Amino acid sequence: MKALPANLHRWTPKHISGMTGLGKFLAIWNRSAKSSCPRCSSCPVEDHLHAPRCSAPTAVAEWSKRHLALCTWMQTQQTAPEIKAFLFEYLKTVRQPSLGVPTVQTWSCHPHLFQSAVSSQAMLGAQSLLEGLVSPKWRHLQALHLSYIGSKKSANLWASRRLIQQLIRIRHYMWKDRNRLAHSEDSSWHIARKQEIDIGIRKQFAMGLMDIPPRSQYLFQDSRKIVFNKSLKDCQHWLCLVFHERAINRRSLARQRQMIFDLAQPANPTLTWPPGASP
Ligand SMILES: [Zn+2]
Repeated sequence: MKALPANLHRWTPKHISGMTGLGKFLAIWNRSAKSSCPRCSSCPVEDHLHAPRCSAPTAVAEWSKRHLALCTWMQTQQTAPEIKAFLFEYLKTVRQPSLGVPTVQTWSCHPHLFQSAVSSQAMLGAQSLLEGLVSPKWRHLQALHLSYIGSKKSANLWASRRLIQQLIRIRHYMWKDRNRLAHSEDSSWHIARKQEIDIGIRKQFAMGLMDIPPRSQYLFQDSRKIVFNKSLKDCQHWLCLVFHERAINRRSLARQRQMIFDLAQPANPTLTWPPGASP
């Protein structure tokens, strides 16, 4: 953890505990009206476990890219082929838990040590890999491998710093992809909000200029199509203005009607307009 950059220092505990700025907690903290995943429409409550598992096309592409990058990194770091094969395959179960613990070619020199490391990692679970929780037994096997091939690389450095950092970074990249899409016009949040706004605009055009004061009738000068094609922010602004103007005008008309009614019925002050309303 000490070797991670400062931003990942703060980010990692939040994403391991789950109390972070994803749909679930954004809704709890009243920072978002929706708790669903902004990338796919299939997850009603987006939590820290969903972020690396999301089935949206961008999430699939990002995962594949980072997964392959880890494989390349293990290759360049002279990782034992058996360790590389197991970790590469086991990481797939983060997104597809049904795959289970993979059966890979065992280490012929130390089959018992290898099997022990596999069992140890399986007990920790695939999700723990993305939290940097790697069985210490891999380090011992990697040290044996480096010694066998005559490498001067450090197995401690390979495991305790570099491999763990690579795994945490995969999760961080998945989170960054999620944020990038959440703030784009392709997010499911944006699409759903745009649909709500479009329905509101359609209703306002169907009502026409009724209750709209002359000073605000310019809002309907553009055709419905032109208003629809405005940005989401501009559409929201247009809708708020129209709501506001109709509400003000209705209240003003109601007051005028009440005044006329009061003048016409001076002998009975308990009568109100509209009939039945409280005085
Ligand atoms: Zn999703």
